[in-house]
Amino acid sequence: DDQERQEVWTNIKDALFNDHIDQFRAEFLELHPYDQARIFEGLDKEVRMQIYTYLSPEEVADVMEHIDYDEIEPFFTEMDPTFAAQVFAEMSTDDAVDILNELDKDKVASFLTIMDDDAADEIKDLLHYEEKTAGSIMTTEFVVVKAGMTIKEAMVHLRTEAPDAETIYYTYVINEDKRLVGVISLRDLIISEEEWLISDVMNERVVSVSVGEDQEEVARMVRDYDFLALPVVDFQDHLLGIITVDDIMDVMEEEASDDYSKLAAVSDVDSPDDNAFA
Ligand code: ATP
Ligand code: MG
Repeated sequence: DDQERQEVWTNIKDALFNDHIDQFRAEFLELHPYDQARIFEGLDKEVRMQIYTYLSPEEVADVMEHIDYDEIEPFFTEMDPTFAAQVFAEMSTDDAVDILNELDKDKVASFLTIMDDDAADEIKDLLHYEEKTAGSIMTTEFVVVKAGMTIKEAMVHLRTEAPDAETIYYTYVINEDKRLVGVISLRDLIISEEEWLISDVMNERVVSVSVGEDQEEVARMVRDYDFLALPVVDFQDHLLGIITVDDIMDVMEEEASDDYSKLAAVSDVDSPDDNAFA
């Protein structure tokens, strides 16, 4: 409630003022990243710079994912560039790409140079996709297994991949040519016998979207099929990424406000003031 919020806020300010890192971390990290971001936005630059030194890149990444991307530039500009690059590397690739698209090209290039190669390569690949396509909103942190694995092997694999995966509800199945051939839900994995093969349990009729598909169409499919995520493939059915339902909600919001602007523009023209015959 409000009083509790006020108390937390007082403690956080206190900790910052007195340079009490442990107290700050204890109070701040207790909050949901959404609420952390709201606090962050209200602070002066100097205080934010103090906070960057109190938090890990991963912790700052969680906060940044909840800041409005239109307003995020100053935050990354005020960070130490190496730290900023680490923050990007810790973010979901789709979020990192969305934010990098808001920054100027030189700055993006310099972050990518500092970043370690794997993280930079993944982000570079995603930066190439055209705006408002499936490729531009997908993330590359998905779980994939081979059709010939046993359930037991797949579960072991899933356990190692889970910490970094965008979702673990669906595991996608690829064949020897790395083509998408199936999908299996966490529920199905858990209720299957350990020695069964993935190929026996997987759903072979995988609904997927192609990487160039319009994001609005992707949103429609997620809504119609009721999946929590959809796989994104190239023209040869190679799995490139996934789009999760939370990203689709952002798309719907964006498209709705685009449509609204168009509508407003149309009604402007028709308004009596602009009408030459009025
Ligand atoms: P159910 O609703 O059948 O009880 P669930 O709640 O565990 O399953 P859902 O998210 O509802 O999981 O997914 C339903 C089924 O759809 C799962 O069996 C899953 O394997 C399958 N599925 C997930 N993604 C896809 C996809 N892209 N194409 C086809 N099937 C999929
Ligand atoms: Mg279900």
